[in-house]
Amino acid sequence: MDSSLNAGRRARELAEIRDIVVDVLVVGLGATGAGAALDAASRGLSVAAIDAHDLAFGTSRWSSKLIHGGLRYLAKGQVGVARESAVERGVLLRHTAPHLVRAQPYLLPLTPSVSPGQARLVMTGYRLGDGLRATARTPRHLLPGPSRLSAKRALTLAPALHERGLRGALLSWDGRVVDDARLVVAIARTAAAHGARILTRCRALSLAGDGAQVRDEMTGAEFGVRARAVINATGVWAGQLSPLVRLRPSRGTHLVLRPGSLHGLRTGMHVPIPGESNRFALVLPQADGRIYVGLTDEPVDGPLPDVPEAPESDVSFLLDVLGTVLREPVRRADVAGAFAGLRPLLDGPAPTHGPARIRTGGEAGAGTADLSRRHAVVTSPDGIVTVVGGKLTTYRRMAEDAVDAACPTASPSRTARLPLVGAGSAFEGGREHSPIAGRAPGASPPRHDPPARLVERYGGEARAVQDLALADPALAEPVAAGITLAELVWAVRHEGALDVDDLLDRRTRIGLIPEDRAAALPAAEAALALGR
Ligand SMILES: Cc1cc2nc3c(=O)[nH]c(=O)nc-3n(C[C@H](O)[C@H](O)[C@H](O)COP(=O)(O)OP(=O)(O)OC[C@H]3O[C@@H](n4cnc5c(N)ncnc54)[C@H](O)[C@@H]3O)c2cc1C
Repeated sequence: MDSSLNAGRRARELAEIRDIVVDVLVVGLGATGAGAALDAASRGLSVAAIDAHDLAFGTSRWSSKLIHGGLRYLAKGQVGVARESAVERGVLLRHTAPHLVRAQPYLLPLTPSVSPGQARLVMTGYRLGDGLRATARTPRHLLPGPSRLSAKRALTLAPALHERGLRGALLSWDGRVVDDARLVVAIARTAAAHGARILTRCRALSLAGDGAQVRDEMTGAEFGVRARAVINATGVWAGQLSPLVRLRPSRGTHLVLRPGSLHGLRTGMHVPIPGESNRFALVLPQADGRIYVGLTDEPVDGPLPDVPEAPESDVSFLLDVLGTVLREPVRRADVAGAFAGLRPLLDGPAPTHGPARIRTGGEAGAGTADLSRRHAVVTSPDGIVTVVGGKLTTYRRMAEDAVDAACPTASPSRTARLPLVGAGSAFEGGREHSPIAGRAPGASPPRHDPPARLVERYGGEARAVQDLALADPALAEPVAAGITLAELVWAVRHEGALDVDDLLDRRTRIGLIPEDRAAALPAAEAALALGR
């Protein structure tokens, strides 16, 4: 079946689901819900999956984009959670999304504030992380091991570092996704290719074990969807639909620095947070030249916003931390944008009047004190299965566990070896990495092949996107951040973008910088007209 999502398909499938009973209704189309839709559809079940807004509207687009091997869980003694992360990282790198997920090198500068003892401890951690990689059978050519670099080499890779007192750097590798929102789109489209009805702008007003009351947010029409099983994958909002689930959201903020702000930076960085022995800020260069700097961790109380704001206090905190390792501090004016997301941390299940069944991922039989580090699958007495917690990296495993709980008689999950849309033949067997550049040797394509920028975002579909631009030179015009009008039209025709927000904030990330967003608005309007 076709993987294309668009307004026409949405209208058709929206009409269909009023008259049928689906095997599984999934509510929420972040990584977890899209993953559940794919998991169920690829087992041969009939699926409807809805989101109140858009694909990747929630937390999934606000992540640090790390596909991490679970080192931090290892440090806390949570071996099962760490291993699960490492295994899922390997699945993404090798089988399901080698076009979107790759190895990313990180430098930890050994400044005077990092003692030799602390450096040795961190290196031991990196080596243990490399051991996890090996036990997860991720080959070293996909994810190189850690090493120690001289100060000279460190300055070549990160010329903005302060050289005074610099003893060198530790280099480590982890996974990262090109764009978290694009990962979700790829998962949802792969589910659609397996027959799942993927319906955005459909809000679940209430859930029951046999369906949901739904409102089409485009027309205001309310209707019922009947289902044999219901999965609540609404992330930080899960408690609003299932009172059994209690969450303790925590806000994480990232800065978006203008391209060139950290002259010549060629790797990511781990920057020690002053006064903390084992916490680091992250510096994450993006393919478009922008640099993300994160990450705060602040508990959030009160009503949950649809789109969290990044407060100025988070911005200055991150700038201060970054400034501790740089020759010249980054100025506030170099911060072109900022974004914040809410972590759906589980606060243990709420007291219940009936027998709820709870399974936690990662480590069977573990206590509840640190439940928030894992994911949980909670089945309410009336049969609604809520899947929550976890992380982007483990979305596939969360989805598998949720479908296992919702549909115990279904065939086993197939998703661990199921390539996502775009994981085309060009990348079969994974890509080789040069030790430092973080890009495949020979990644610059032969002439006439699509440019590396398109291959990085579209994988096996890059040529089709390029063909669109070649057919009409007006579509080859860049809109902002190197994105062309052809990419926006592609998003309308194949990636389910229904309005300018979908185009600028989720199919592309132009919207992360407000002035880029304003400049791109007319092009987004034009793409909607051309794409329909
Ligand atoms: C700042 C930050 C950084 C992070 N970094 C990383 C990282 O680097 N690596 C990593 O692995 N993990 C990371 N995480 C964790 C990861 O992002 C989340 O665990 C994951 O994205 C959660 O996905 P989800 O699908 O469960 O929820 P969401 O992505 O929030 O999806 C929930 C969806 O449900 C929809 N919804 C809500 N209510 C309704 C309703 N009534 N009807 C229909 N739809 C509804 C929403 O619109 C939303 O699209 C990070 C988290 C944060 C906050």
